This record gives sequence, C-alpha cells and structure tokens, in this order.
Amino acid sequence: MDTITVTGMVLSSMAVGETDRRLVILTKEQGRISVFARGACRPRSSLMAVSRPFVTGSFVLIPRKDSFSLQSAAVKEYFDELTRDFDKMAYGCYFLELAGYFSMEQADGTDLLNLLFLTLKAVEKQQMPAELIRLVYEYRLFVAAGEYPQVFTCSSCRKPLTEGWFQMRTRSAVCSHCGTSMDGEYLSPSAVYALQHILTAPVTKLYRFRLAEDVFDALQRVLNQWKRRYLDREFKSEALLSPSALPQMGKM
Ligand SMILES: [Zn+2]
Repeated sequence: MDTITVTGMVLSSMAVGETDRRLVILTKEQGRISVFARGACRPRSSLMAVSRPFVTGSFVLIPRKDSFSLQSAAVKEYFDELTRDFDKMAYGCYFLELAGYFSMEQADGTDLLNLLFLTLKAVEKQQMPAELIRLVYEYRLFVAAGEYPQVFTCSSCRKPLTEGWFQMRTRSAVCSHCGTSMDGEYLSPSAVYALQHILTAPVTKLYRFRLAEDVFDALQRVLNQWKRRYLDREFKSEALLSPSALPQMGKM
C-alpha cells in the first residue's frame, strides 16, 4: 500500500469507538491533518504510545479519502518532563489548542511547527516565566497569521516609532509627537523595543529575555485588545492555566 511520511506533532487525540483514536497532527508538509490510529487503544498496540498529544516525530501514513491512517511513527520527542508537571502541561495543552486554531489544512506548517516546538521546550525548561512565554507565543501566532500590530513606524508622520500610543482602531501606533494620551495604550521606549523584538526575532532567539513588569503589562493590554478583535472563540484549556504557578516575572 502507498504510504507517505510526514514530520509533525500530535495536537489532540480522541478515542473513537472501543479501540481506535482520532489524532489531529500539525505537520510540516501538509499543515493540520486528521489521522486515524486503528487499534491504538488496544493493549500492546504499537500505536498506543505515539497516539498522545505532544508526541513529535515522523509519521508513516496511509492516505484515505478524507483523512489518513497511521501505520507507524518514529518519535523524536515525547515532552515527558512537560507532561509530568501539571502546571507546565496546562500551558502545553493551551498552546496545542491555539496551534490547532491557527493552523490550516493543506498548507505549509513548517513555521508554526517550529514555533510550537520551541515554545513547548521553553515551557519545559522554564526558560522564561510561563506568562511571558504565553505572551510571546500568542503574538507570534498572529505574526504567522499575517495579522499583527503595526508598531514599527508612526501611522501619522511615518517616522520610526520609538515611543507612543497604540490604537486598536487603526491597528497601529502614533509617536509621542503626533499623539496624546487620548490616543490609546501608552508604549514606553522599552515597550516599543520589546514588542518589535517579539514580532521580528528569529524563532530560536524568542525565549531569551526578561521584561520589566510595567512593560509586560502594557504589551499584555495591547495583546488582549488584539485577541478580542481577532479570536472568535474561547479556548477550553485556558481555564486550566494558573499564572501564579510557575516562576514569576523578573525585572529586566
Ligand atoms: Zn508621528
């Protein structure tokens, strides 16, 4: 039988009937796909261990009409350390759910998969406070979707932005010469710099900085406005997050 091999991560796994599981896998080659793992609930099934969320590796699939059947998998990463800690796993599950929302079928999933993988590694290794990882990840999902705040130049005078006010109405910012405090969310020079960094840094350098608390708060207020506008549903795994459970914000 013809098979294809894809590289990806299991985003979700749901029991179907007595013995099968339906997986959603984010893949490099085909974006988000549905995969049936037949017999994965049977004891001693070789598919059982690989039919779990967070499992990352290469998957050998048999194409079906509207989905795929899983034949085998070579696992590169189980995220064991993450799944053994409830608080880390809660963030991980929320990040998987968001990746499912932002990913598309029959599209290149490389960037999203890299972002998700490195984000989960950052949570697992506690590279930064969990809420800061979440902030960065959420901004970068919007970047991947091509919809993110324009904070590089002033929307009025077009000069490079170093300080100013973010306006949801225009999805951009005005500089401190063109705007007033009536013009939205104040972004200090540190906040502008941090936000520009988050939006543009190479993914391998995303989770290596600290923010002062006031900067974090400003970026979060902008992000919350953005999410209210662009996310059209709630995420059930968000309820499990406990922002105080992992190390707190440090000063830069
Ligand atoms: Zn200006």
